[in-house]
Amino acid sequence: MPEKSVDVVIVGAGFSGLYQLYKLREMGLTTRVFEAGSGVGGTWYWNRYPGARCDVESLNYSYSFSPELEQEWTWTEKYSPQPEILSYAEHVADRFDLKKDITFDTRVESAVYDDDTHRWTVTTDSGEVVSTQFFVMATGCLSVSKAPEIPGAEKFGGAIYHTGHWPHGGVDFTGQRIAVIGTGSSGIQSIPIMAAQASEATIFQRTPNFSMPAGNRKLTDDEVRARKENYREYREAAKWSGFGVPVPEATKSALEVSEEERNGVYQTGWDQGNLVAILTSYIDTLAVKEANETAAEFVRAKIRDKVADPELAEALSPRSFPFGTKRPCLDTGYYETFNSEHVRLVDIHKTPLVEITAKGVRTSEKEYEVDAIVFATGFDAMTGALTRVDIRGKGGVSLKEKWGEGPRSYLGISVAGFPNMFTITGPSSPSVLTNMMVAIEQHVDWVSDCIGWLRENEVTELAATDEAEDEWVRHVEEVGNTTLYPTADSWYMGSNVPGKPRVFMAYIGGMGVYREKCDDVAAKGYDGFALTPEPTRA
Ligand code: NAP
Repeated sequence: MPEKSVDVVIVGAGFSGLYQLYKLREMGLTTRVFEAGSGVGGTWYWNRYPGARCDVESLNYSYSFSPELEQEWTWTEKYSPQPEILSYAEHVADRFDLKKDITFDTRVESAVYDDDTHRWTVTTDSGEVVSTQFFVMATGCLSVSKAPEIPGAEKFGGAIYHTGHWPHGGVDFTGQRIAVIGTGSSGIQSIPIMAAQASEATIFQRTPNFSMPAGNRKLTDDEVRARKENYREYREAAKWSGFGVPVPEATKSALEVSEEERNGVYQTGWDQGNLVAILTSYIDTLAVKEANETAAEFVRAKIRDKVADPELAEALSPRSFPFGTKRPCLDTGYYETFNSEHVRLVDIHKTPLVEITAKGVRTSEKEYEVDAIVFATGFDAMTGALTRVDIRGKGGVSLKEKWGEGPRSYLGISVAGFPNMFTITGPSSPSVLTNMMVAIEQHVDWVSDCIGWLRENEVTELAATDEAEDEWVRHVEEVGNTTLYPTADSWYMGSNVPGKPRVFMAYIGGMGVYREKCDDVAAKGYDGFALTPEPTRA
């Protein structure tokens, strides 16, 4: 028998878990949060690699729920560095006295639903067993890091690091020969800094990525003041925008304007260091190959300008997927780094990685001797953090088994057969295709309202129906197929993890559209859910 009983168990104390705890506590519910790390912050707690910073502007990548918090916190840079974001998470946890309900250094191992009592039994790796009516997975979309699936790491005589769980004390590579495997956002942000320290830096690239200069800088007092003055208006615009970032709506096709006009528009986004501005410049950038190619070629031309050796520039130029269908990156001096004599690029598409040896990294061509290896190889995204907990719903069905052919959910928030369980920014919601802060707040608000409504209406069990789930899965796929996203081998598609089913795991209908759908479901008395009244009323 569980020793303890609460209204809600939340897994994770990142930005989702913190806000979910705050909301439920305000509503008077008893809540326990379990967090594997020793502190709050989630992704910003673990990803401490050099150069880690958010590529959504700091004045937008922050909570909107508390106007007081908004006014008292001052962001110092256009794109916040990881330490500043972590300090913000700490500040929020302290300001709202959240830590007293968070159990750190504790992993939830299993959660089992009881069909009779309509309650979940949650068990942790410290042996604690808690009974709860509601179970919220606030475990993040990019929180289970993955290694590069090549043998031999245990043989290596030097140090191995992963960008996704970087040592808290930092690492100094001064004078070392380093190997970096992976050129996604984490690699592209960290390589210039690590290479500047190293005596020799060898970058193993499987697929080149599109990146543009962040143009990061200190924010001026005037900029901060102006945003603080119009925060409400700005937040409202972000909430209803497509990507959670307010940008003007595109009205034209990229193919209906002259090359000169188009490149002028792309140049403006480029100069602003604004990814979303380029992605949304034209209505068909993410939908029509030829339109997309104009943006892709604009970026490739920039790479040719920046990299002195034309062959190297070509090797760094993405050609195997449309622009934006793998997460584009913001960098500070990434391409320029390759102009340094001591930095070399190894195209492992041509000469694949074979093994890690005692001395370094071996490709099909040769062995590279190094002192340290950095895996910047990404994550088992979207589903990894959910399926690694042994979650069993009605009839003992396991979530991992149910999702054997890809994630299925209703609105990306609830899974049929798993009543009273919510997934914050779960697969098939806008999540990673938007400003995560906006997506998190929308989900947490919806879940909190839902729990409040269930209690008010004396409903003991909320269960997404199979029909509603099927329809949502169909809709997500249908909308995804109107875009170029499914054509890329990306982590959005699960293709970065060998054996993972190929499914587009996010909703590209837009944040505003999705919000309307969720609000509509709630307004209709939780349409698409089966509701079981409390036993006394049954
Ligand atoms: P990622 O985008 O998945 O990049 C991983 C890199 O490692 C890719 O270049 C990948 O090559 C390579 N790789 C993976 N497995 C490999 C293997 N077995 N052998 C050789 N190479 C391998 O991961 P990430 O850079 O950590 O970024 C993940 C996401 O986190 C980003 O897309 C972004 O959403 C988020 N993020 C955001 C920020 C920010 O806000 N600035 C910063 C970092 C991360 P392939 O492309 O060929 O698979």
